[in-house]
Amino acid sequence: MKITYLHHSGFSVETETKVLLFDYYTEGGRKAYFDPAAYPDKAVFVFVSHAHEDHYDRRILSWAKLPNVRYVLSFDVRTEAGFEGRVLCAEPHRTYDFDGISIQTLQSNDEGVAFLVKADGKIIYHAGDLNWWHWNGEPEDFNADIEKSYTAEINRLKGEKIDVAFVPADLRLQDKYFWAVNYFLKTVGAKRLFPMHFWGRFDVCTMLRQLGYGETIAEITQENEKFEI
Ligand SMILES: [Zn+2]
Repeated sequence: MKITYLHHSGFSVETETKVLLFDYYTEGGRKAYFDPAAYPDKAVFVFVSHAHEDHYDRRILSWAKLPNVRYVLSFDVRTEAGFEGRVLCAEPHRTYDFDGISIQTLQSNDEGVAFLVKADGKIIYHAGDLNWWHWNGEPEDFNADIEKSYTAEINRLKGEKIDVAFVPADLRLQDKYFWAVNYFLKTVGAKRLFPMHFWGRFDVCTMLRQLGYGETIAEITQENEKFEI
């Protein structure tokens, strides 16, 4: 499996016969990070976890003219007409079989969904913005609700043998930045976990490794970095 870190929460995952693209975002078109035309012999699945602009770049829709491109879009993502048969509209807490892959969804405690995808014998989790959003200084009730929603959603994945997980590690949460990763690894686990949603703070990968998660954490150092797993 080949994994490329693109930007923010964007990753591509290449399996034997497929390419899964998650939350492609170019920040105002500064750069193009991904070209589905580069994979003419593979089915390309373009996932969008929710419609926030840092997870959904509308230019992905222009790829629909390529016959190998499919979309898996959270229910809150709007598209124009003309995508019939190419788009799966994903609702929370559902399981879908779509063109040779299996997709289970969680409900985000921010917006949209998180994805558990099974493709070519591999199991991949992408959290979208499902995160342990404990903000220091918020009322206790708010943070208690966040704890409840995050842990309840992750508990739904117990028993899954996940190969690769993409989980937020957002340093704006200060000393709580690692809580989502910690709960995920303790409860479900993954062979390799890629931090994301870290706003350019690549050092968060090293910080997580030093917290004791070691080599389970992928050490991302730059955009377009490739990993073989
Ligand atoms: Zn976000």
